[in-house]
Amino acid sequence: MTGQGHRGVVLGETLRFTVPFHIAEVRDRPVAWLVGEAKRAATILATHGDDMQFGGKHSGEAFNALARGLACAALVADGGVTYAGLHWCRDPLCRDPAADHPVDVDAVYSSRPVEDVAVGGGLP
Ligand SMILES: [Zn+2]
Repeated sequence: MTGQGHRGVVLGETLRFTVPFHIAEVRDRPVAWLVGEAKRAATILATHGDDMQFGGKHSGEAFNALARGLACAALVADGGVTYAGLHWCRDPLCRDPAADHPVDVDAVYSSRPVEDVAVGGGLP
């Protein structure tokens, strides 16, 4: 097995273990928070993803951002997310990206608290 192949296996298996913990931690957050957290994770990955790929002092931070971003996206994206052959979505038992992922608006939105989100500093 090549070094990159081994890294890919380690990354996949570590995500298989880690992403469900992130999902459990954030699953009751409002949708706006989940989207903001996914954006924050994407920024970290864009900045330090090379450290995770090639080694560097921000490897851990980049890995955590990947796992956190996948968890947040799994909860807000219809059909969940699939990465490196692994799938996560709102159904904690689902492992199939081709499974029926009905859009259950009530399940997604009614169980979450209503939250005011300030956009652009609000009104004067
Ligand atoms: Zn699924």
